[in-house]
Amino acid sequence: PSTPTVTGRFAPSPSGPLHAGSLIAAIGSYLSARSQGGRWLLRLEDVDEGRVRPGAANTILRQLKALALDWDGPVQTQAARKNVYQDALEALQAQDVAYPCACTRQEIRGFGARYPGVCRAGLAPGRQTRSWRLRVPNILNPWEDRFHGWQHTPAIQGDPILLRADGYFAYMLACAVDDGEQGVSEVIRGADLLALTGVQRHLQSALGLPHPQYGHLPLLFNAAGHKLSKSADSPAWAGDPSQAWEKTLHLLGWITPPDLHGADAALWRDWALTQMTEEKLLYRMTAAGL
Ligand code: GLU
Repeated sequence: PSTPTVTGRFAPSPSGPLHAGSLIAAIGSYLSARSQGGRWLLRLEDVDEGRVRPGAANTILRQLKALALDWDGPVQTQAARKNVYQDALEALQAQDVAYPCACTRQEIRGFGARYPGVCRAGLAPGRQTRSWRLRVPNILNPWEDRFHGWQHTPAIQGDPILLRADGYFAYMLACAVDDGEQGVSEVIRGADLLALTGVQRHLQSALGLPHPQYGHLPLLFNAAGHKLSKSADSPAWAGDPSQAWEKTLHLLGWITPPDLHGADAALWRDWALTQMTEEKLLYRMTAAGL
């Protein structure tokens, strides 16, 4: 058999159970990869150990199994891979693409939403390195999102942190290294990361890694208008695998046959995969919610 050319992945942080919003990314990335005959990997992004909740990783695996979302190979984690991220950071330091930053939390808060690059030109005398940042240009290369079209986003948050003051590597670095190492060719995820992708791509280039293709799916919002990020806000249907399939496909703009209502997750999955192939829903699966 030939090696699959598409490798997708789902990369939740084990900071809690999957909620209705994360189900969109799980199901969307699965359907995209599998409908192209590709692999689908599962990576638990536990690099920020302070946010990891005990038991969340097992809960996520159980939820995915109940949804009949079968992943390939072992589940990758990040917390034990610090030496790999350290090597990547050192490669960036050697190119002067990563630079030390002495700014304290309080100073950073004072800068507002965008870090203005005060440590770019070197640390003032007597100041200590607290974190390491990636030097990004003001103008990033444009790139094409599968659902949102061409993106010409500036680096809206300024130079992102690669190694945090608390000693943890940043999601940004771990994600780029892991996507590269795992041969991920497409990233289908929530639109909260759309604005960060230009910078992520810049980091991939600096690390000599290829760029995956990106597609950002709609986010769900709670009643207060905030992005759904906690399972506490998640609607009850998200806990029932059959309903989770039905509602998630509806949120993605699909029309589903009434006789599938209440069907096993595996039947939903197989039906959805057939639709992906027959109707090329890959390119319209974000019709709703954008
Ligand atoms: N771990 C990230 C999150 O849970 C997702 C990262 C990604 O898909 O690139 O928000």
